[in-house]
Amino acid sequence: MKRNARSRSSEMAGHVQPKRAVTIVRNTHKAPMFVIDYVIVHELAHLIEANHTPRFWNIVRAQLPAMERARDWLREHGQSLEEEV
Ligand SMILES: [Zn+2]
Repeated sequence: MKRNARSRSSEMAGHVQPKRAVTIVRNTHKAPMFVIDYVIVHELAHLIEANHTPRFWNIVRAQLPAMERARDWLREHGQSLEEEV
C-alpha cells in the first residue's frame, strides 16, 4: 500500500515501514496527548504484529485501555492533521 494512502486513513497518523522505521505524520504533535500516546503505541505494536489482527489490537489495548477514544478522535480529526502543514 502506498505511504500516503495509509497515512491519510482516518484511523492512523503514522505507519511502520518495511525496514521497521516508525514514521509519525508531521502534525501529530498537534493532536491531544491521549491521541499521540495511541499513535506511538499503535506503531510500536506493529513491530510485534505487522497486521491489524485481533492479537495486534490486544497488544494496543493492553497498553491503552481507552484506545477507542483516540481512534474516534482520529476518525474525526485525522485528516485535518495532514492539511495543517
Ligand atoms: Zn496500524
